[in-house]
Amino acid sequence: MKSNCIKTVLVAVASMISLSSFSQDLIARQAPIDKKLKSVDSLALHRQIKAEQAEFPAFDLYPNWSNTNVHNYANATVPESYTIDMTGFCMPTTQTRITSPFGPRRRRMHNGLDVKVYVGDTIRSAFDGKVRIVRTERRGYGQYVVIRHDNGLETVYGHLSKQLVKEDQLVKAGEVIGLGGNTGRSTGSHLHFETRFLGIPINPALLFDFPKQDIVADAYTFKKGKTNVRTAAGTYVAAGKDGVIRYHKVRSGDTLSKIANQRGISIDALCKLNRITRRTILRPGQVLRCS
Ligand SMILES: [Zn+2]
Repeated sequence: MKSNCIKTVLVAVASMISLSSFSQDLIARQAPIDKKLKSVDSLALHRQIKAEQAEFPAFDLYPNWSNTNVHNYANATVPESYTIDMTGFCMPTTQTRITSPFGPRRRRMHNGLDVKVYVGDTIRSAFDGKVRIVRTERRGYGQYVVIRHDNGLETVYGHLSKQLVKEDQLVKAGEVIGLGGNTGRSTGSHLHFETRFLGIPINPALLFDFPKQDIVADAYTFKKGKTNVRTAAGTYVAAGKDGVIRYHKVRSGDTLSKIANQRGISIDALCKLNRITRRTILRPGQVLRCS
């Protein structure tokens, strides 16, 4: 019994020693292979990451992927500041004439830039990305395409005569996505081009110089507006040369005092900014400048 017991213990100890030396040996022998594997792995990994990035552009910024709404990011966390890499761009059209700038129009906000194009003109994706929406809005964008890019931007191409991409399709910068047209709410063929960051429209003229057919700079830093808490669906930010201009989209039930209160501005200042009086009747959908 005793000897048996000792034997077992000895065997156990021996096997432990041999196991540990064996595994150490294994580790030692594996090290250089591991190194080799690592370099192969990092290449494969890099490729994998790139492929995944293409599959989910700007995944860290956007909370969802939807094929329906152009701006549905009420719940998104908007960073205080975000630098958008503009390199690797392609001008959406070779046309250079701006027919309508970004900014508030008489009763509504113009969230994009209008560039004169002719029916059948080639329209190209501004960056690499993934097509999010290919739809038709008879009273709005007409036939339009929305693409999400890995630099954090989403681009919108409106009033097309033909859409040449499908939803969820991966595209490269410069890839043809449609043809210029005059569909939707449009008088005269043109490209309505929007650049949005988490649904917030940025003046495309701050990013793209259509007359010069170039980008304004290699990078654009988006800065969150101080009072721009994106809880109200009608809150817009437009970064101008002199900082941020804020707008309020009137909803039913809104009054001048309510808006003034909400936006931290006096009623008089609000009236002056919008060239209206205290008696002006507000219409839902109307856009008021608040700063
Ligand atoms: Zn437009």
